[in-house]
Amino acid sequence: MAQLDALRNEVCQANRNLAKHGLAALTWGNASGINADRTRVVIKPSGVEYDALTPTDMVVVDPDGRVVEGKLRPSSDTPTHLALYRAFVSIGGVVHVHSPHATAFAQARRPISCFGTTHADLFNGPVPVTRALTAEEVAGAYEANTGCVIVECFEQRDPDAFPGVLVAGHGPFVWGASVTEALRNAVALETIAGMALETLALDEQTRPLEPYLLDKHHQRKHGTGAYYGQK
Ligand SMILES: [Zn+2]
Repeated sequence: MAQLDALRNEVCQANRNLAKHGLAALTWGNASGINADRTRVVIKPSGVEYDALTPTDMVVVDPDGRVVEGKLRPSSDTPTHLALYRAFVSIGGVVHVHSPHATAFAQARRPISCFGTTHADLFNGPVPVTRALTAEEVAGAYEANTGCVIVECFEQRDPDAFPGVLVAGHGPFVWGASVTEALRNAVALETIAGMALETLALDEQTRPLEPYLLDKHHQRKHGTGAYYGQK
C-alpha cells in the first residue's frame, strides 16, 4: 500500500504544520486525507502532541469510521471529517482548527464578509457560518451532527468555491483537493479573518468588495479561464 504510506506521510506533515503555522494550540486541531478511491481516510490520533507525531501514529479508518490500521484512537472529530468526505466528493483533505481570528467570527456567529481581494482569491463570497446544533444533536452523535450542519449549510453552495465554513460557537473546518491544500486554505482563512477584524476595527461600516472585483479575483484563480500562477 505505497499510496497509503504517501498519504500517511502527507497527513502527518500537515498535522505537524498546524502547530508550526500557529493554527492549533495544545492539541486543538486535526487534519485528515482521503485516498484516491475514497475507501480509506488517514487522520491524526486523538490527543497526541504535534511535535511527537510520526507517520506510523496516523490512524487509518474506513468510510464508516472503523479503524483498519494504527494502534491509537483516531481524532474525536473523525465523524465530522467523514461526513464532509461523503458529501463533498471533490475534496481530498480536511483541516479543523480553533485558530483565534476565524474562531472569533465563529463565536460571534458572524460570516466573514469579503472586504478585499485576498479573501476573494480563496472564497467566492462571505465565509459562511452554520446554524447552531440543537440540544438533541449535541446529546446524540455530536461530531457526526456537526458534519450534518456543515453539509446543510452547503445545500446552495459549491464547496470548491467556498473551501471552508465556521461552525457556530466552535471554529473553522476547511478543506481542499489534498490535505496539504486544506492546510494552506486554513492558513489563508485565519489570515483573512484577522484582516477582516482589523478592517472592522478601523471602520465598522466597511462595505464588502464590489461583486465585479470579487468575481475577477476568484475566477482568475479558480474559473475555467484561470490564469494565476504557472501552467
Ligand atoms: Zn473543535
